[in-house]
Amino acid sequence: MRLETRLSMVLLAFSTLAAAREATSPSPIIVTLLVYNNAQAPVATLAQAELEAGRILGKAGVRAVWLDCFDRHSAADPQDLCHRAREPIDVVLRVLPGHGKNRFPDTLFGITFLPTLASVYYDYAVRLANSDDEVPTILGCAIAHEVGHLLLGPNSHSAGGIMHGEWGPKEFRLALMGGLLFTSQQSKVIQAEAQRRMTLQTGVLKEQRLATVDHRPNLKVVQH
Ligand SMILES: [Zn+2]
Repeated sequence: MRLETRLSMVLLAFSTLAAAREATSPSPIIVTLLVYNNAQAPVATLAQAELEAGRILGKAGVRAVWLDCFDRHSAADPQDLCHRAREPIDVVLRVLPGHGKNRFPDTLFGITFLPTLASVYYDYAVRLANSDDEVPTILGCAIAHEVGHLLLGPNSHSAGGIMHGEWGPKEFRLALMGGLLFTSQQSKVIQAEAQRRMTLQTGVLKEQRLATVDHRPNLKVVQH
C-alpha cells in the first residue's frame, strides 16, 4: 500500500473517531456568572468560593464560568465581557457586605431575584465559619444555593441537601465535607432549565436578549 493511501486511511479513521465522539458527547451546559464583589471579600477567598460553588454545580451537571466584574484589587474584565448584552443564561452574582436586613436576620445568607440576579452576604459566611479556612466553603455553598434558586424556580427549598431552607449543624457538617449537594431530581431540573436558557440564547430569541436585570419589571424575590 502506498504511503499516501495509508496516511489518508489514518486521517479518515481519526476524523471518523472525532465525529463519533462529537456525536456521543453532549455539549456542556454552561452558566456564566458575572460576579460583583461589592463586599470587597478577599480575592483568594472569593476565588475558592467560586471553585466550591462550581464544583457543586458541576455535580448537578452544569459547568460554571466565572467573570469577576468588579474588584478593586485586580484589573478584571480585560475584554469588557461584563458589559456586553446579557444572555438568558447569564447570572449576575453580587457578593454583598452585611448580613441582610429582614425579619430572619439569623438565617438569611442570600437573596435571589428571578430569573437572573443572585446575592450572597459575605459577612454572614464569615460569622458562621469557625475559622478563616471555612469561609470559602460556606460562601461557595451559599452561592450554589442562590444559583439553585434561579434555576429551580420559586418554592425550591427541599427537606435535604443544599436547597434546605435553614442550615443547621448537619448542613454545615456536610458542607465542610463537600457533601452538601443538589439532589438528583434537582440536578435534572437545573440541567433542563439551563439547557432551556441556552436554547433561548442561541435560538430565535437571540436578538431579544434580556436587558439589565436590575431594571427588569416583575422580578420575583426568593430570600435565602
Ligand atoms: Zn434558599
